[in-house]
Amino acid sequence: MVKAIVGANWGDEGKGKMTDVLAENADVVIRFQGGANAGHTIKNKYGKFALHTCPSGVFNEKVTNIIGNGVALDIPKLIEELKYIEETGKDKGVPKPKLLVSDRVQIVMPYHKLFDEYEEERLKGKSFGSTKSGIAPFYSDKYAKIGIQVQELFDEEYLKDKLDNICQIKNALLTNLYHKEPLDRDQLFETCLSYRDMIKPFLADTALFINEALKADKTILLEGQLGTMKDPDHGIYPMVTSSSTLAGYGAVGAGIPPYEIKQVVAVTKAYSSAVGAGAFTTEIPDEKEAEELRKRGGDGGEYGATTGRPRRMGWYDCVASSYGCRLQGTTDVALTVLDVLGYLDEIPVCTAYEIDGKKVKDFPVTRQLEKAKPVYEVLPGWKCDITGIKKYEDLPENCRKYIEFIEKQLGFPITMVSNGPGREDIIYRK
Ligand code: GDP
Repeated sequence: MVKAIVGANWGDEGKGKMTDVLAENADVVIRFQGGANAGHTIKNKYGKFALHTCPSGVFNEKVTNIIGNGVALDIPKLIEELKYIEETGKDKGVPKPKLLVSDRVQIVMPYHKLFDEYEEERLKGKSFGSTKSGIAPFYSDKYAKIGIQVQELFDEEYLKDKLDNICQIKNALLTNLYHKEPLDRDQLFETCLSYRDMIKPFLADTALFINEALKADKTILLEGQLGTMKDPDHGIYPMVTSSSTLAGYGAVGAGIPPYEIKQVVAVTKAYSSAVGAGAFTTEIPDEKEAEELRKRGGDGGEYGATTGRPRRMGWYDCVASSYGCRLQGTTDVALTVLDVLGYLDEIPVCTAYEIDGKKVKDFPVTRQLEKAKPVYEVLPGWKCDITGIKKYEDLPENCRKYIEFIEKQLGFPITMVSNGPGREDIIYRK
């Protein structure tokens, strides 16, 4: 059976923690899209870890972790991350990660990062707030058919020809548009060979492996990066990422029949946060109020796991989240980081938008979204710490009311509530 764990919002919803929880009963965990541009923070019995490329099942020795064909693979970053897990986990008994990498995955090249940087420079104030991990240039090249699939690293003559062609295109842009140094084919070739040696031990026909696992009735998790709002088709285009963040794309990015995805867990945080530019309707306008939530948020504050950037903070947005859940094809909602809200007397929840004087419940296209003003209902807070509570009935009444109010607005069942960063901080509802 395949379960997808995906974000209903802008990312940073706590998918890593939820994957780590659900990986306890899984055999395979797969990353199917995105790159090292965002991160997951996982806190478990071994300690606290920031992961960028590795699937969140790496802390479970019975789990095979897979980097699927849909990922933007930064090979040196992956190797560095494996070393980091090994070194930080050495004395703590972290098992050696079992990792397979798709032989159809494409690789992030050093020039992809350069192009990200130069493009941000060119756009100046109008930039997309890129993390400069090369993700947009990588996916552009993939679909323009000038990307490099790992298997191509093994045919040296073919690779040289391919790099010649790539240099011709890239150097025209580098010298004429960005006024920078051109790429050197031979240097790129050497880089490719070093990447080949680093990645070789992990390569496998992962789609075949997964299909065999399905036949053997194994439990497989698909782990999404970012969330619906960052999907290039259904998100807040153009302030989106460059690969689909939807559970449906899991079938493509991992090589799984779409009908095998039986459960879709949409992860949504009990308040909102976003990084980078773009419409963010429920953003808290008062910086002091926002900073209070930011510093209490997540586990150690709402600052990017990859970039350290302070996240933009907002109240829960039912319009965006309901849409986010619908596009994911949600069967279960996991409401996370609820414990953080325990300090508030009252909690605003956005239930509609006002656009040009009209009340709107359905999430609009971006040009309309930019005009949207939030319509709030204010719910009473519960004013206590709910960490450590294991049963739904034991949550304070106002806390249950908050959950049930959101559930009704979403139209999807909240079956899991996360009330702390740890693996054990989880309340199952139904
Ligand atoms: P992801 O990218 O969706 O996995 O999310 P991040 O890892 O960027 O952000 C989630 C942050 O919240 C991490 O620091 C987690 O340890 C933390 N976290 C996850 N669930 C909870 C929770 O229920 N309560 C608290 N306080 N922190 C949580």
